[in-house]
Amino acid sequence: MDAHVQVLERLRATFRSGVTKPEQFRRTQLNKLKSMIKENEEPILNALHKDLAKPKFEAVLSEVDMLNNELIHAISNLKQWMQPDYVGTNLATKLDDCFVRREPLGVVLIIGPWNYPIQLLMVPLVAAIAAGNCVIIKPSEISAATDNLIAELLPKYLSQDCYAVIQGGAEETKELLKNRFDHIFYTGSQKVAHKILQAASVHLTPVTLELGGKCPCILFGNVNATAAARRLVWAKFFNSGQSCVAPDYVLCSKATRDALVPAILDVIKEFYGEDPQTSPDLARIVSSGHWTRLMELLGKSKGKIIVGGESNQEDKYIAPTVLVDVAEDDAMMQEEIFGPILPILTVESLQEGIDLMNSKEKPLALYAFSDESSVVNTVLEKTNSGGFCSNDGIIHMTLPTLPFGGVGGSGWGSYHGRWGFETFSHQRACMLRGWTLERLNGLRYPPYTENKLSW
Ligand code: NAD
Repeated sequence: MDAHVQVLERLRATFRSGVTKPEQFRRTQLNKLKSMIKENEEPILNALHKDLAKPKFEAVLSEVDMLNNELIHAISNLKQWMQPDYVGTNLATKLDDCFVRREPLGVVLIIGPWNYPIQLLMVPLVAAIAAGNCVIIKPSEISAATDNLIAELLPKYLSQDCYAVIQGGAEETKELLKNRFDHIFYTGSQKVAHKILQAASVHLTPVTLELGGKCPCILFGNVNATAAARRLVWAKFFNSGQSCVAPDYVLCSKATRDALVPAILDVIKEFYGEDPQTSPDLARIVSSGHWTRLMELLGKSKGKIIVGGESNQEDKYIAPTVLVDVAEDDAMMQEEIFGPILPILTVESLQEGIDLMNSKEKPLALYAFSDESSVVNTVLEKTNSGGFCSNDGIIHMTLPTLPFGGVGGSGWGSYHGRWGFETFSHQRACMLRGWTLERLNGLRYPPYTENKLSW
């Protein structure tokens, strides 16, 4: 039997035994995951540094703390999430117990990307454990140090009969996907998502897709240029722009651009110093391949570089780079940038900006910066995206009470907090009836006489 099948059979047998269903079992495993993170924070931060030169502060904030918050939230809400929801009844079902019961799906597969290799694998895992599933996780081979650390740590803390790590790249994942799962939760690129869907279709497996895209940031009306620049630069260059919710491009009027650009230049200097390559607060591009892709994209762009553009392949470094005079048909506007390059496009009116955003795939996040609430509300009303945040970037995804996920091309389904619990649960419609009032039931049995119809 091949190794994947063996793991799957083991997990399937465990799931059938019902061991993962009791609240106490789920709670214990979540607490063990919490201990794993607490007791191994240093090796985790070191691995993230090895993979992406992730600054400690960014790693703590976006990986360790995010995961801890989800764990705390899940542990404290688990009992309530597991309660059945009683629903309204009608005359014919008045005496019945009618409720929705959340049941685990079975053995689920979670496939993660490399940009937040802890958070984006472990937060779905929290939801899957909370919902009572057995889980196989497949970390990204590109963030190799974190991938290896997860494979080493997880079996030491969590039940090996219920949870397993399978490592490997595209080929191993394709093999793994030949098997039947009860759900596939995939985070990564749109390109690979097509392959995941094709594989899932063979077994009619339901899929959650957490994808990317071009997240716009539109600035209009009165805007505090200094505050906007600080928040924009932080959100864009956090993890060197390798965030699925990073502002991908900026839209604003010429006047706003002229006020914003000097503020952005000041803020980049303030955050990363005169020479950002020497800053400990700027992550590196994850791989040589991604570095080359970004440099080629920069080479193809006809935009004017107003800051940055410097790079070093050996160090996988690209300076925080801002481009102006970028046209809508520029190379920068044809694909998700996913790196430290920010194009600024000018538009004549708010409506033109809205039309431009709406001409593209629905993004994972959409940002509107303005002092005027009417501008923010107009953008919110006239656009569509997975998530929305005014006057800041990224920060909306840190709340476990908000669903996180895309719409259209940026993804299907959502998670975080209760939303993740629901994703990994089946909402089973239950009606518990007794044997009373059988005479009343006679009204629906044949022979279907006329007087039964008029009753
Ligand atoms: P990717 O799609 O290349 O890889 C993701 C996972 O898929 C990895 O585990 C990889 O091993 C596996 N994989 C790669 N090729 C495969 C194949 N042919 N068949 C089966 N599996 C395969 O994505 P990535 O480069 O790791 O991540 C970047 C993308 O992910 C960006 O588009 C980004 O926006 C998106 N992303 C989305 C979110 C979100 O939450 N929505 C979060 C992070 C990243």
